Amino acid sequence: MPETQTTPSLTPHDPSPAPAAAPSPAAAGAALAAPPPGPAAVRHVFDFAEGHREQAALLGGKGANLAEMTRLGLPVPPGFTITTAACREYLRTGAEPATLGGEVSAHLAALEERMGRRLGRGAAPLLVSVRSGAAVSMPGMMETVLNVGLTDSSVHSLAAWAGDERFAWDSYRRLIQMFGATVLGVDSGLFEERLSRARRAAHAPTDAALPAAALRDLAGEFQELVRAEGRRAFPQEPREQLDLAVRAVFDSWQGERARLYRRQERIPDDLGTAVTVCAMVFGNLGPDSGTGVAFTRDPATGQRGIYGDYLQNAQGEDVVAGVRNTVPLSELARLDPASHAELRRITAVLENHYRDLCDVEFTIERGRLWMLQTRVGKRTAAAAFRIACQLLDEGLIDEREALRRVTGGQLARLLFPRFDEEAAPAPLARGIGASPGAAVGAAVFDSATAAQWAEAGRAVILVRRETSPDDLGGMLAARGILTSRGGKTSHAAVVARGMGTPCVCGAEALEVDAANRRLTTAGGGVVREGEVISVDGGTGRVYRGEVPVVPSEVMEYFERAGQAAGAGSAGRAAASRAPQAAAPGAGAGAGAGAGAGELVAAVHRLMGIADRVRRLDVRANADTAQDAARARRFGARGIGLARTEHMFLGERRPLVERLILAETEAERREVLRELLPLQRADFTGLFEAMDGLPVTVRLLDPPLHEFLPDLTDLSVRVALRGAREAGHAGSAGEGAGAGDAGGAGDAAGRADARLLAAVRRLHEQNPMLGLRGVRLGLVVPGLFAMQVRAVAEAAADRALAGGTPLPEIMIPLVGTVRELELVRAEAEETVAGVARARGLALRIPIGTMIELPRAALTAGRVATAADFFSFGTNDLTQTVWGFSRDDVEAGFFATYLEKGVFQVSPFETIDVEGVGALVETAARAGRAARGDLKLGVCGEHGGDPDSVRFFHRVGLDYVSCSPFRVPVARLEAGRAAAGA
Ligand code: PEP
Ligand code: MG
Repeated sequence: MPETQTTPSLTPHDPSPAPAAAPSPAAAGAALAAPPPGPAAVRHVFDFAEGHREQAALLGGKGANLAEMTRLGLPVPPGFTITTAACREYLRTGAEPATLGGEVSAHLAALEERMGRRLGRGAAPLLVSVRSGAAVSMPGMMETVLNVGLTDSSVHSLAAWAGDERFAWDSYRRLIQMFGATVLGVDSGLFEERLSRARRAAHAPTDAALPAAALRDLAGEFQELVRAEGRRAFPQEPREQLDLAVRAVFDSWQGERARLYRRQERIPDDLGTAVTVCAMVFGNLGPDSGTGVAFTRDPATGQRGIYGDYLQNAQGEDVVAGVRNTVPLSELARLDPASHAELRRITAVLENHYRDLCDVEFTIERGRLWMLQTRVGKRTAAAAFRIACQLLDEGLIDEREALRRVTGGQLARLLFPRFDEEAAPAPLARGIGASPGAAVGAAVFDSATAAQWAEAGRAVILVRRETSPDDLGGMLAARGILTSRGGKTSHAAVVARGMGTPCVCGAEALEVDAANRRLTTAGGGVVREGEVISVDGGTGRVYRGEVPVVPSEVMEYFERAGQAAGAGSAGRAAASRAPQAAAPGAGAGAGAGAGAGELVAAVHRLMGIADRVRRLDVRANADTAQDAARARRFGARGIGLARTEHMFLGERRPLVERLILAETEAERREVLRELLPLQRADFTGLFEAMDGLPVTVRLLDPPLHEFLPDLTDLSVRVALRGAREAGHAGSAGEGAGAGDAGGAGDAAGRADARLLAAVRRLHEQNPMLGLRGVRLGLVVPGLFAMQVRAVAEAAADRALAGGTPLPEIMIPLVGTVRELELVRAEAEETVAGVARARGLALRIPIGTMIELPRAALTAGRVATAADFFSFGTNDLTQTVWGFSRDDVEAGFFATYLEKGVFQVSPFETIDVEGVGALVETAARAGRAARGDLKLGVCGEHGGDPDSVRFFHRVGLDYVSCSPFRVPVARLEAGRAAAGA
């Protein structure tokens, strides 16, 4: 959520200020001559008038955008930014750069001169805000200190200057409170306790109703608290306040909240934060002052217009904390039409300049508007698609830019199901739909419990009056978030949107009673902790119990789009053409919600652009005809991986057991002969579903013991049978028929014993590194030949039936070209045999997976026996890192992520430095050996947005992923081609 500050008036009550004291916006934009940095010294401080928006890495997003607004001549209070590099040095060495103090002094002196006022001194003391600002927005995750410069003495000058005693003491108690908590580590709850006590004593319903005397007393109490808990007196030297506040902002980069947020958002840990130091302007100087936040479009729906919240006579943190309820900006038009008009003008300038939705924080000080922050605003996934198309229509961006404005992650979110409104009960309440999506879970009233319950595997909805940054752990753990206060710009709303978690906020009809762990509805109904509720972050509705879900309209669109494409016409052109037939917008359907039509149309349009510009093909990992058909509807251009092991399970398991137990060549051949037609039918189904498109069939990969009963289970079964039979033998002859029962039991027993012997024989300590993949093909005679034969015969059948089968045969787990040569020779012979027998020409490319480091390192040689490579990045990651893929993610990855060993699991997103380097090396060597070598990837990474862009960069031909991820991969492939 935005860190707003309540600031401004440079000279609030002086009707004829000295020119230097009240710079015009234009003057504010004029560059303040930067103090010379000293020979060869690296500069750590830049005036707002010196930078621009492209410098977020150095100045942080906030500093860079303040500089940009200053350049544009917008009314920004003057100030300067301390760079992220200074923060990095501080974090690395534990001390600020040696030259930082001097640079700050020089910039502060220049600021003081410009304002005609001195920090915390004189008749009109200058106050500053000290705010964090990383290169990537981390709203509310780091610290801010406002009103720096106020002391026991300057508070009186401020009161006289503003002509407002209450204002001055309120500002002072806020400073001590923020400084105490942020800089000196005093528990913020202790300040809150004293504040509520003061409110009760003064019969004040809100802080705003506290009189000056009460605030003065509070300032005193707060100072005592700081002395007792912060182990030092609140500093009375303004410059010391400033330096300590800057250091606290640096330190807040390493705060728990910030680290958790970075992990969630995959923001690197070593960026550091910049610090902006800005002359304060004040929104709490009376009814003609106030503060607010605004978006140039609705961040939830993309609706054009200006959208936001305003709070009269308040400082910024009041808006964010939801302490008082804000009013919509339309109300500002009534309260202060001139400022409202000026805000509209400025937001239009910003949107045209940034060519995107912007959000701003502003303060009005006695009728004068000041801009405190802007940035390209966060938005929901739906809004991202709609806004990209709107900007495209408005001519502000081109098609490629439009593609860069949406992400595969956002598209994935749009594919989630939504509530079936027909089946929903009457809602308990309706709040603001702040972050879309349907969430069902147990109501939980505090973050710690939410995190605990989620850890234990329960779905929870975090219910709070409002959230604060301390709730981050609970918000991350929750399926959905519900608050009774705050608007679309509240902390809950902004953070939930960022995380893609459904959120309803401002459900004011609900009274949330966290202390007693329950909420009460307007009608007096009670929901207690643990009871299931459903929240709809799109419509804002909250229901008791579990509401059934239905597919999203975007998901339905993809299903329809594929059907319209027709079974035989899939492919890139069809994928982009089909949706027109599917009538984007028609898909909104009843109950899909306002704007669903526009959303579907936007998705359709951007997918069309992606399909047109992408170079990577997208295939699917599918091993049933049904999955293949779905993948095709979603725009897959073939199957990149049909795993055949699934074809050996279920009813066919006994056949596989027989194969393994076969004692003679004849027995083994007989089983393979029985398996052949079953396999052929599997492949025929796949070729039919993917007619005209390639289907890569991977020969059997897993170790054979996976098809046999578990060793322990079987051992127990055999042992129990043995014990029972011993018992029977003891009582033999006691009853008729015992002998018969014993005969059947003997046969079963003998079978189990044989099976147990086989399981023991095949048992491996490290089966993933054992007899699997190509090794099976070389060791179990006839197995691969049977599979190849089934592929060839299925292809021949389809071709003779008028279809266009395009099979490819893929060999798993190859480590050396020799393995591939051996299997290839046998496969070619088998295919040739089928072709002869059926009287047709069959050309079936034979390729290999690259999933062992050795294969990657010798790819040039391997390529001599391969028509294609498909990178099996699951096994490649496993073998490059030496991580057992079945164990480590649940085992110790949480600790690795926590300690920053990596930002994301390498099984989820390709490890570019390690696994990625091998992929790149092997791709290059393979192509060098064989120019027409086709290159693809079929590990899980094939559907991961970041990884897809990597595969584009290294020049692969296609990615293959699960059917549901095909749309995401198509979009990301397009984005990669568009330079994302
Ligand atoms: C791989 O290893 O990346 C792969 C696709 O094969 P599997 O996951 O079946 O081992
Ligand atoms: Mg593999």
